[in-house]
Amino acid sequence: MKSQDYITLDEKYGAHNYHPLPVVISWAEGCKVRDPEGKTYFDFLSAYSAVNQGHRHPRILKAVRDQLDLCTLTSRAFHNDRMGLFLKKLCEFTGYEMALPMNTGAEAVETALKAARRWGVEVKGVKNGEQEIICAEENFHGRTIAVISMSTDPDSTVNYGPYVPGFKKVPYGDAEAIEKSITPKTVAVIIEPIQGEAGVCVPPAGYLKRVREICTKHNVLFIADEIQTGFSRTGKRFAWEHENARPDIMCLGKALGGGIFPISAIVADHDVMKVFTPGTHGSTFGGNPLASAIGIAAIDVLIDEKLDENAERLGKIFREEIAKMHCPKMKLVRGKGLLNAVLFEQGFEAWNVCLQLRDAGLLAKQTHGNIIRFAPPLVITEKELREALAIIKTVFEKIA
Ligand SMILES: *Cc1c(COP(=O)(O)O)cnc(C)c1O
Repeated sequence: MKSQDYITLDEKYGAHNYHPLPVVISWAEGCKVRDPEGKTYFDFLSAYSAVNQGHRHPRILKAVRDQLDLCTLTSRAFHNDRMGLFLKKLCEFTGYEMALPMNTGAEAVETALKAARRWGVEVKGVKNGEQEIICAEENFHGRTIAVISMSTDPDSTVNYGPYVPGFKKVPYGDAEAIEKSITPKTVAVIIEPIQGEAGVCVPPAGYLKRVREICTKHNVLFIADEIQTGFSRTGKRFAWEHENARPDIMCLGKALGGGIFPISAIVADHDVMKVFTPGTHGSTFGGNPLASAIGIAAIDVLIDEKLDENAERLGKIFREEIAKMHCPKMKLVRGKGLLNAVLFEQGFEAWNVCLQLRDAGLLAKQTHGNIIRFAPPLVITEKELREALAIIKTVFEKIA
């Protein structure tokens, strides 16, 4: 079968809830992917940062294979001999006392919202049903009904009502707007340290630190959604570290699964996590032995290969080189580490640029029409990055 045959199948039998770039991937390794016709591409999306360790990292594959021969699923009705080791590693890596494993990112966010609401009643003393959570406009936290109730994006929300109450939306990047919205019923503030889906929006310097101070001052939990920014993507293990603004709860996902498997979690200290008691939350697959084995290997790769340092160093080169390119339609390049985006003029259709990049051997996806995100696997080498930049340059400098 040819690429077009696979695309036809997807369109005929799959719900049309995505509009993918017309390219089919049938093989992948490191920062490269290949289509059925044998053409190789740089992957500059990394499955929205779920492939930070690179495609099919040998060490993570070995962990999968070894665990497949032992045990893959127990449910949480019994203990298994992997989950505790995984959660210990995750806690040590993040610097938190406890973790709660789930599967997808949206579930991690749901878990954080539930933790905050319960903490609000049981620790802060807010009456159940009156808890308020402050979120940021233009956020992306996932696709469930509660989570889209925080969204301001019509694509995510239209005709999905009734929405879940209890959320207040304030402009992103404006810490004082958060403080003004806090009432005695506010239990948490949830933000992305950098808004990924919104187009890699980096907030003003000092924002995260200020949010941390405001939350502390008003006895409100600071929840950071690090699902896309976490696990070394921005040049630090977690993006809050850029401002030393340690959250009370972190939502984690994507790269925690090492590009293999959906694995998510929240981490927090005991004084927050203690609100969960037997039966009050759970997931059949959360913390399963296969996921736990993968999670351990995924974290080990980030540490041993110093992928945070690689992201920091190569990210600087990427932004410097892009800024030098001659492209009249390009307005700016922004980002941290290897989470970057190029912004074109308002009204410019970046989709066509993505098609040209594809033809030239590099896969990237536009967001909001005029923005292209560039986020390769963090295992990319400087040599590979410079090859990729040469591809981008030929395409960008042809844009009229
Ligand atoms: C991808 C993402 C999510 C949702 O993760 P899923 O695994 O798709 O449910 C939540 N928050 C952020 C910041 C994300 O980038």
